[in-house]
Amino acid sequence: MSELRWNPVLSRWVVTATHRQDRTFLPPKDHCPLCPTLPGRFPTEVPAENYEIVCFENRFPSFKRFPPEPSVKNDDLLKVEPSKGICEVVLYSPVHEGSLADRSIDEIYRLVLIWADRFRELGNRKEIKYVFIFENKGEVIGVTLPHPHGQIYAFSYIPPIPAEELSSARKYHKKHNECLFCKILKEERSDGLRSVWENGSFYIGIPFYARYPYEVHITSRRHLGSLTEMTDEEYWDLACALKVQLVKYDRLWNFSLPYMMVMHQRPTDGREYPFYHFHIEFYPPYRTPEKLKYLAGCESGAGTFINDTLPEEKAAELRDIDISDILKKGK
Ligand SMILES: [Zn+2]
Ligand SMILES: [Zn+2]
Ligand SMILES: [Zn+2]
Repeated sequence: MSELRWNPVLSRWVVTATHRQDRTFLPPKDHCPLCPTLPGRFPTEVPAENYEIVCFENRFPSFKRFPPEPSVKNDDLLKVEPSKGICEVVLYSPVHEGSLADRSIDEIYRLVLIWADRFRELGNRKEIKYVFIFENKGEVIGVTLPHPHGQIYAFSYIPPIPAEELSSARKYHKKHNECLFCKILKEERSDGLRSVWENGSFYIGIPFYARYPYEVHITSRRHLGSLTEMTDEEYWDLACALKVQLVKYDRLWNFSLPYMMVMHQRPTDGREYPFYHFHIEFYPPYRTPEKLKYLAGCESGAGTFINDTLPEEKAAELRDIDISDILKKGK
């Protein structure tokens, strides 16, 4: 069963996807469905002996191109709709071990190009209103397959968090005739209190209003709405910024830091969003090397995050982690 159920109390959709209960859960390394298919061995999801980066549709999708009819009947109050959409998996590397942080800048650059391509292709489909590129990393986040990979959900509607950002950005732009994100960027860069790193095209920092102790945002320095508007130099600079941030995370406590990574781009519903601004957000669930931040009563029930740390102090910690050894010049 797979359907969209409308919550008229919070005005948002919930996806029921009961078939996902059967998905592969933490298989042993020699039975990884995301590794290349080796001669004489069981067939994996990728029928090739090797690959660089692979993108394919999720076998256990939350949304489907041709969704089944809902299991219950539609009603004016309790609306239900087929869960139309597309879910893709992006394998970062044929190497089972490690994570995106271990990939070279060249490899991450190629991944960025693939993200841009998927955004363009999925976004061009009439039924797709929002392309959401993200990664869940680490068992504590609920990852069921440790092989390094990310996901893309192509939504038939604009999901609520991007919608809230769009609404604030629209209002701010109307009032001040300026982009909200450009304005924040200017303020953040002026004193650098919460800055982590930057290059010619991207700024990395912990936002003033961070919800997680090590929440980091990567924002394009140029005002643009999506990956498809970037120059080749910007693709390269984004790959460098990602590499820098991921390595900083792993060097923080000398273990591979779990996180959620989400990319916020303009919707693909055919409307214009000149007031919106590309950025990537990271939410690592750790407060200390041993302690997790849980989404508890206040976060889950009141929608208010309690951050036990100061973004200024955490940004200084991340800023001070040396990564000069991983950067090389040009392409
Ligand atoms: Zn694998
Ligand atoms: Zn802007
Ligand atoms: Zn955002």
